[in-house]
Amino acid sequence: MLSVDQVCALIDREVRRLPAVRLPLAETLGHDLAEEIRADADMPAFDRSAIDGYALPEDALPGWFNVVGEVTPGMAPFSAPGSGNAVRIFTGSALPASGVGLVMVEETESEGKRVLTRVAASRQHVRARGSQAKHGALLLKAGTKVNPGAVALLASVGATNPLVSGTPKIIHLVTGSELVAADVDPPAGYIRDSNSPLLAALIAEAGPGILAQRHVSESVDEAVEALEDFDGDMLLISGGASVGAYDGSAQILRRLGFVVHCSKVRSRPGKPLLFATRGRCAAFGLPGNPLSHFVCFYLFIRRAFDIMSGRVPQGMTRVHIDGDRPPSDPRETWWPASVRAEEGSLIAKALPWKDSSDITGLAPANALLRVGSSPGNDMFEALLFGNLEP
Ligand code: AMP
Ligand code: MG
Repeated sequence: MLSVDQVCALIDREVRRLPAVRLPLAETLGHDLAEEIRADADMPAFDRSAIDGYALPEDALPGWFNVVGEVTPGMAPFSAPGSGNAVRIFTGSALPASGVGLVMVEETESEGKRVLTRVAASRQHVRARGSQAKHGALLLKAGTKVNPGAVALLASVGATNPLVSGTPKIIHLVTGSELVAADVDPPAGYIRDSNSPLLAALIAEAGPGILAQRHVSESVDEAVEALEDFDGDMLLISGGASVGAYDGSAQILRRLGFVVHCSKVRSRPGKPLLFATRGRCAAFGLPGNPLSHFVCFYLFIRRAFDIMSGRVPQGMTRVHIDGDRPPSDPRETWWPASVRAEEGSLIAKALPWKDSSDITGLAPANALLRVGSSPGNDMFEALLFGNLEP
């Protein structure tokens, strides 16, 4: 039986980063950039007005001016007005490269084709060419996660097909004759399938992935048939990872040509855990109990997902415990917890669970505490995943 650290090391050794791809900008949200993005021109690319008002000779003093024209945003830059003249301008109007100062419309009175300014013209409200970034300046580093702000920046420099991390293509097979879909009232002896929605949610949270889900019985033949054409990056099988008469995941994987690297891990919950590979495809067989499922996802699948997506897997963080310390057990326990930041430290509260099928206390979890086999002090290592509790 391998330790959690040993299985993580196996995953690090066997799983490869997917090749980067170019995606249309609208599909890049949540992906990591696989190239750096630089300004394709000065930003702004030309001097432009930040106000509605008038362009005057650069240092014009307050007084009367003849309004000789109007330049709306989108019109080509005009030439600087001569002495005594003014040009009506608007927010975004392109300005000549030199020789103009601006006065806000609020500081003027107009009378027919003449305008009276109450303040001297200045360049205070000129958005100067290159004042935000010079042509070629680094705007986004490779590895940056694309968020809405980054989407706007990419669009503004014309990067409409950026190179981003590859998207893992995943198939999830949920096994079990006792399962009905979550929208069905389960007859006696049946239970609702919560692992399919759980896994879909875990993957959606982890980042961009393409997920297909299927439900099959315990029949190895049925599973093999459902998977024969799969040519993706990750195969997940829920249930049947153990050694019972109906636990066929290892057989399914072997029949599909996978090399099984591990079939048990010394952890609680989640002891039966299969990790296998076939070429670039990584497979996990997960215990069907929902809490084991949850824990194994964050310990192992998330790690493989991150590596495929070109990210550094999340490391461990030190946290203080608040309230009762979770009890130790001969098997290392990964205890769901809710962690908050308080006065510069991270404080964890262990959440209740009765057994590996119990998810009634799981909703506030944003971390797993590593509880060793011997009682320690009040500091624990934790694997953080959701947002910190306020
Ligand atoms: P297994 O790993 O297939 O032996 O399943 C272990 C336990 O988890 C059994 O009690 C199953 O009924 C339960 N289980 C299996 N799959 C699911 C699922 N998709 N949703 C909820 N519980 C499940
Ligand atoms: Mg089962």
